[in-house]
Amino acid sequence: MKDCNCIFCKIIDGKIPSAKVYEDDKMLVFKDIEPKAKVHLLAIGKDHFKLLSEMDKDRAELLSHMFSKIPQIAADNGCQNGYRLVINQGDDAGQTVFHLHIHILGGEQLPW
Ligand code: AMP
Ligand code: ZN
Repeated sequence: MKDCNCIFCKIIDGKIPSAKVYEDDKMLVFKDIEPKAKVHLLAIGKDHFKLLSEMDKDRAELLSHMFSKIPQIAADNGCQNGYRLVINQGDDAGQTVFHLHIHILGGEQLPW
């Protein structure tokens, strides 16, 4: 991640502060700076890639790890009654940070 000009890589490297709620050797989860729900977390892998179309075996294993951890992380952070996962992909989806990330939204009844 060194010298990567990506805001989420800088968060992983500790160069930009974040409100971390979970970290292990493969992933980091922190609070979204502009929450769109009562609970709005971002889960990122410690591997910089933008799109699911860039998937390979290691990245598939990383995403599998992330999805296996998310239920407990969501429950521990106020989403005991359900939550929504969003992965924006590209311009039409409004992706603004080009490091693949999973939005975790909940803590209230979400509008569709
Ligand atoms: P997306 O539009 O799917 O690319 O989502 C990017 C998200 O990153 C947005 O919801 C932003 O509010 C969030 N974001 C951008 N910069 C930061 C930051 N420094 N700390 C926390 N969240 C951020
Ligand atoms: Zn990155």
